[in-house]
Amino acid sequence: MKRVIKFVIPILVAFVVASCCSSNKQAKYVFYFIGDGMGFSHIAVTEGYKSILNGEKKSEPLLFTQFPVMGMATSYSASNIITCSSAAGTALSTGFKTNNGMLGVTPDSSSLEAISYKIHKAGYKVGIMSSVTIDHATPGAFYANSVKRSDYYGIAKQLCESNFEFFGGGGYQGATQSINKKFPLDSITTAAGYNIAYGLEDFNNLKSNSEKLVLFQPQPRTDNILPPVLERNDSSLTLPQVVKAAVEFLNSKDGFFIMAEGGQIDWSAHSNDVAGTIMEVLDFDAAIEVAYKFYQQHPEETLIVVTADHETGGISLGRNKGYVSHFDKVKEYVDGVQKKNSDVSVDNYMEQMPVDSLSKASLIGWTTTSHTGGAVPVFAIGTGSEQFAGRQDNTDIPKKICKAMGVEF
Ligand SMILES: [Zn+2]
Repeated sequence: MKRVIKFVIPILVAFVVASCCSSNKQAKYVFYFIGDGMGFSHIAVTEGYKSILNGEKKSEPLLFTQFPVMGMATSYSASNIITCSSAAGTALSTGFKTNNGMLGVTPDSSSLEAISYKIHKAGYKVGIMSSVTIDHATPGAFYANSVKRSDYYGIAKQLCESNFEFFGGGGYQGATQSINKKFPLDSITTAAGYNIAYGLEDFNNLKSNSEKLVLFQPQPRTDNILPPVLERNDSSLTLPQVVKAAVEFLNSKDGFFIMAEGGQIDWSAHSNDVAGTIMEVLDFDAAIEVAYKFYQQHPEETLIVVTADHETGGISLGRNKGYVSHFDKVKEYVDGVQKKNSDVSVDNYMEQMPVDSLSKASLIGWTTTSHTGGAVPVFAIGTGSEQFAGRQDNTDIPKKICKAMGVEF
C-alpha cells in the first residue's frame, strides 16, 4: 500500500494539475512545421555538422530539438508500409490514412476535410507555405482534395477557392501544366481576390491593402521552387522570410494557424546530397526560430509543433566500417559553393565534387533514393504541447492541434 501511495498519488496530482491548467489555456497562435523527409538521422547528421563549425566532434543541438516535449510518430500509409508525401500529408492534415499517390481523399476517393478548414471556420486566420511549390503534396494536403497528387493544376485551382488568407512558396508547379489551358493559374488566383507579391518588396507594398495574399519568389525559376540554400543569392526569397511575412500578415486578435513545410530536405535527400540535406535542415531550423521568437512574446497563447511526413534517403551518420564522419569535408564543400555564389570566377564546386563523392568522403551513408519507413520525430513547445510526448501515429497530430486550439475535430 505504501508503494501505491508513493507512486500513484504524485502521478494523480500531476495529472489533475496538468488537466486543470491546460483546460483554461488555449493556443491562439499555432505553428505546424513539417520537415519533408526529415528523420531522426537527418537531424543527427545536421547536428554533427553544426558541431564541426565550433571545432568540435559531437552533437550541437538545433533550436527545435531543444523543445521540451518530444515524441515519435508512425508514418505508414493505408496502402504501403513506406508512405509517400501525399498520403503522409493527408494523415497530418486530416487525421485519416489514405493510399500513396492520393491527396486529401480516402482510399475510396471521398473528400476529407483538412484541419486548416476546421480552424478557419472557427475564426482563425490561416497561412500555408513551403520552400518548394505551393501546390506540392504537403502544402496541397492542407487545402485540396485530389485522387492524383500529380494533378498540380487542379490542386492549385483549389488553393484559389480555399479563401485562406496567406500562401507562400516558390510558385505553382501546376503553372507548367496550365501552359495550354485557357485559364493560367496566376489569373485564377487574382480573380479569386488574392494579390500576388513577387518577393518581399512587393509584399511590403501590397500587405496593408490586401485581404488575401500569395507570396512567391521575385525571379521565377523553371522548377518554381524557392532557391535551394546552396543556390541562393542576395535577392533570393527564403523560407524563414516567408514565415516572417506570414506572421506579419496574419497576426491579429483572431489568432492564426500557420503550416510551413521544409520541402527541400526531401528533395536533397532523394538526390543523396549530404551538403544540400544539411543546409536545408539548418534553414528549416531558422524558419522555426521565427516562430520561436513569436512564442517568446506570447508564451501563454502559442503552440509550435515540429514533425516530418517520412524519412527520405536512409541517411546515416557513419558509412561502411568505423566510428568516424568527416564533416570537415562537407564544410569545405559548402564554403566553396558559397564562395562560388558570391564570386563567379571561382570554379564550380558542384562539378568538382559530385554528391556521391562527398558522401563517401565525409563517411555519410545512404540506403535509397526513395523514402524509408521509420517513425519520424515530433517536437513541441507551448500551450497544449504536452499532448505530443511519446509514441503516436501521424493521424493523431492534427487531432491534438485542434484540441489545443479548442476547435472541434
Ligand atoms: Zn519525397
